[in-house]
Amino acid sequence: RTDIQSILNKLGIKAENAAFSTGSIWGGDSNSKSIESFSPVDGKIIASAKVATSADYDAVVKKSQEAFNYWRTIPAPKRGDIVRQFGDALRVNKDTLGTLVSYEMGKSLQEGFGEVQEMIDICDFAVGLSRQLYGLTMHSERPNHRMYEQWHPLGIVGIISAFNFPVAVWSWNTALALVCGNVCIWKPSEKTPLTAVACQHIIAKVFKENDVPEGVCNLIVGDREVGELMANDGRVALISATGSTRMGKAVGAAVGARLGKSLLELGGNNAIIISEHADLDMSLIGAVFGAVGTAGQRCTSTRRLIIHEAVYDAFAAKLVKAYVQLRIGDPLDQNNHVGPLIDKDAVSSYLDSIEKCKDEGGKFLVEGGVLEGEAYTSGCYVKPCIAEVKNDFKIVQHETFAPILYLIKYKTLDEAIALQNGVPQGLSSAIMTLNLREAEQFLSFQGSDCGIANVNIGTSGAEIGGAFGGEKETGGGRESGSDAWRAYMRRQTNTINYSNTLPLAQGIKFDL
Ligand code: NAD
Repeated sequence: RTDIQSILNKLGIKAENAAFSTGSIWGGDSNSKSIESFSPVDGKIIASAKVATSADYDAVVKKSQEAFNYWRTIPAPKRGDIVRQFGDALRVNKDTLGTLVSYEMGKSLQEGFGEVQEMIDICDFAVGLSRQLYGLTMHSERPNHRMYEQWHPLGIVGIISAFNFPVAVWSWNTALALVCGNVCIWKPSEKTPLTAVACQHIIAKVFKENDVPEGVCNLIVGDREVGELMANDGRVALISATGSTRMGKAVGAAVGARLGKSLLELGGNNAIIISEHADLDMSLIGAVFGAVGTAGQRCTSTRRLIIHEAVYDAFAAKLVKAYVQLRIGDPLDQNNHVGPLIDKDAVSSYLDSIEKCKDEGGKFLVEGGVLEGEAYTSGCYVKPCIAEVKNDFKIVQHETFAPILYLIKYKTLDEAIALQNGVPQGLSSAIMTLNLREAEQFLSFQGSDCGIANVNIGTSGAEIGGAFGGEKETGGGRESGSDAWRAYMRRQTNTINYSNTLPLAQGIKFDL
């Protein structure tokens, strides 16, 4: 059984410490309230963390403003070297941090380790990027003029993250923001404060070893009210917010009202099209992992399968057979496929969605339900289920963050693509087909309208090298690889005149 206390000790989090600090690595107001870190694995309270008051928040912002004046003067490759050391520290702490992620959030141990691996990968990416923050040079229309663009840091980047990737999303933002010369303030999900405290300890140690002053990376623990402070604060240049569409609409409006920059990574309603030309065995793995992995709590989880009528019955039978074999239980036990939902509220919303689906005429091929008994004392373990539905059911149009898989039948590829696109969200999509024409149509401008479109891979599990994010109600932001770094910088166009005259653009004459 996992010895959580020794993990906390190894991560440098004091055992006797019931309340962890807010701020960067310093204490907040000791009278402020605390939030408890609850493990959905066994229902235990692991620890509690101090919530930042508005005075704490203000002090953190002031500290990070000072730190920005210092951090931006460090050459980008040197900043990259510190991020490299952070990646090395994560390598050392991979087992402990990964286990804590699994225990606090409830994802499988393998996925916990995978999440830390993603953090390491983005650090490696950011190190290379620190020497590649390229701008273009242009040819000026005026003689003896030089024109180019350069990219400058923004200042404070506010990061609001969701519970389901409690640490990786922070690192995607932080690693890029840091090499770009920004400082960060992180408000993690109130459901996973402990993993955030652990990350803060790891990065603070690296900064200390490099004599970096406090305030470059800051942690403020709290609920949505603390997030709102940041969203409304004109001193925070960019808000990168990951979470539900409901949250994104509120944050986008608050940041928009002050004409700040926002990067929104919101909910998905991801589908796989299973064509009559699909390799059904391969499709089965993609579909089942996509639907039940992380108990259906990934933004890229497979929610809908759009299946060709010629293979519908055969594939549905395969799915039912696979679901019967799923082992549900303690995610730290590597024999289990499916762990718990994050908390009892998530269980209620899962049950509510099943009821709504039935009310609208959904037919369940595999029934859902809450598991009871000694192994499930937290009350957060549910059965992954499968329902035959119509795409336009209200509940199907909505992202339920739980392992409920909807099956929809189609006749033509055009119809399948229209169904796939026929939801408000636009994050991840996939087609399973061995037919080149189908694959290319799906990837073309007439195909998927999502930010991610895959062929013969499920919807879930992106690599950090590509830009990650989605369209429509998913928010339009892009994080991680490719040129996503540009969102963390401001572009400046520079024109230099080295002639003896002052010619104006567009041939305009102005003589005195
Ligand atoms: P949530 O929206 O409830 O909370 C996310 C974060 O936003 C939390 O830190 C919360 O405190 C904060 N918050 C909520 N309302 C706020 C407000 N009005 N102002 C400022 N901050 C506010 O989401 P959740 O339940 O933690 O996570 C699940 C959701 O996140 C799903 O919809 C999932 O699809 C989405 N998600 C998206 C991505 C992506 O990259 N697109 C990645 C992970 C999760």
